Amino acid sequence: MEPRKVYLDNSATTAVAEDVLNAMLPYFSAIAGNPNSLHQWGRDARRAVDEARENVASLIGAKPTEIVFTGSGSAADNLAIKGSVWADKKGRKHIITSAIEHHAIMDTFKWLGKNGCEVTFLPVDEFGMVRPETLKEAIRDDTLLVSVMHANNEVGTINPIEELGAICRERGALFHTDAVQTTGHIPVDVSNLPVDMLTMSAHKMYGPKGIGALYIRKGIKIVPLVHGGGQEYGIRSGTENTAEIVGFGEAAKLASRLHETGEEARVSRLRDKLLDGIIARIPNSFITGHRTKRLPFHGSVCVKMIEGEGILLRMDYAGIGVSSGSACTSGSLEPSHVLLAMGLDHATSHGSVRLTLGRDTTDEDIDYVLEKFPPIVELLRKMSPYKGG
Ligand SMILES: *Cc1c(COP(=O)(O)O)cnc(C)c1O
Repeated sequence: MEPRKVYLDNSATTAVAEDVLNAMLPYFSAIAGNPNSLHQWGRDARRAVDEARENVASLIGAKPTEIVFTGSGSAADNLAIKGSVWADKKGRKHIITSAIEHHAIMDTFKWLGKNGCEVTFLPVDEFGMVRPETLKEAIRDDTLLVSVMHANNEVGTINPIEELGAICRERGALFHTDAVQTTGHIPVDVSNLPVDMLTMSAHKMYGPKGIGALYIRKGIKIVPLVHGGGQEYGIRSGTENTAEIVGFGEAAKLASRLHETGEEARVSRLRDKLLDGIIARIPNSFITGHRTKRLPFHGSVCVKMIEGEGILLRMDYAGIGVSSGSACTSGSLEPSHVLLAMGLDHATSHGSVRLTLGRDTTDEDIDYVLEKFPPIVELLRKMSPYKGG
C-alpha cells in the first residue's frame, strides 16, 4: 500500500483545481493571440480576459473596471503601497501598517521608511490582532495610507478591517488590506467594506502561481510601477498573461460557488478536530492566533522545548506537509516576527508549526496526523538540548 500523503500547507500554496487547469490549457496554444490585437485571435483572448476579470470582481463584490491583474500578490501589495504614496498630491508623508504583515507589505514599508516616508508599525494583541484603538491613537492628519492585512498567514487571525477602514475614512487616509489569505475562503465584499484597495493572489485559492490582482476602488488614484503599453487601465503595463488570468477567473468562479456548498463549515470542523486533538495529545503545546476569529482552514500551534524545523522534517518523512514559522523565513534561525509581535519569547516561538487544511483534506487525514504528530514530539523532546532546562 502507498504510504498516506497529507498536504497541510495550503497557506503557502494550493494545488491548481482540475477545472482551473482545463480552463487554462487552450490559452497556451489554441487561443494564443495577444489580447491587444484587433484580429479574431486577439479578440478571443480579450474576451477571455474580460470574462476572468468579471469573475474575479464578482467574487469580492467589485466592478470589473476596479480590478488590475498583477504578476503576484506581492506585486499587487507593492503597487498599492508605492503607487498610492507616489500619487499623493498633498505632500503627506506618514504611513501606517501592522507588525504582523507579510514581507511583501512589511519590507515595502521599511523601504519607504528609508526613502522619504515616516512609518508607524501598529502593535498587535496576544492573538495577533490589530486593535482599532491602536490605529485611532496612531493615525494623524498627515497620514496618507494605512495597510492592515485581512487575515494573517502564520496564525490565521482575522483582523477587524471593517472598523479599521472606518477609522481611515473618518480621518481621510487611504485603507489597503492584503486579503490574499481570505479571498476565496471566507466572504469578502468590498461593496460593504470601507476598503480602498485590496490584494488577492490566485495560487492561495486553487489558481495558478504568478498571478495576482489589486482591487482599486473607483476614484482612487495610484501611479503605475511599470510603464509601457498601457495595459490594465495604464496601471500595469505588459501583455496580459491570458492563460493565468483565465485560471484566476476560473478559481474565483469555483470559490464563489463553494461559499454555498458549506466548505467553510466542513473545513473548520476538521481544523477544530485537529487543534483540539493536538493540544489534548501533546503536553506543553498551545494554539497560536485567535481561536474563533481565524481562517476556517488554518491551524497553528507552538510546541514548547523543541524546534518547529525538526518537527517539519520528521512530519515530512511521515508523509505530512506542514510548515514551521512562515515559509519565507524558514531556513533562517530568526524567529517569526509575527509570533514575537504577539509577545511570545524567542525559544517558544521556535517551536511553531502551521497546519493549513484544504478542499481535499479528510477526516482520515486528520486522524493520521493526530496519530503521527505526538510520537514525533516525544522523540524530539528526548533528543532536545532544552531537556530538563
Ligand atoms: C502568499 C501571500 C502573499 C504573496 O503572494 P504571492 O502571490 O505569493 O506573491 C502576500 N500576502 C499574504 C498574506 C500571503 O499569504
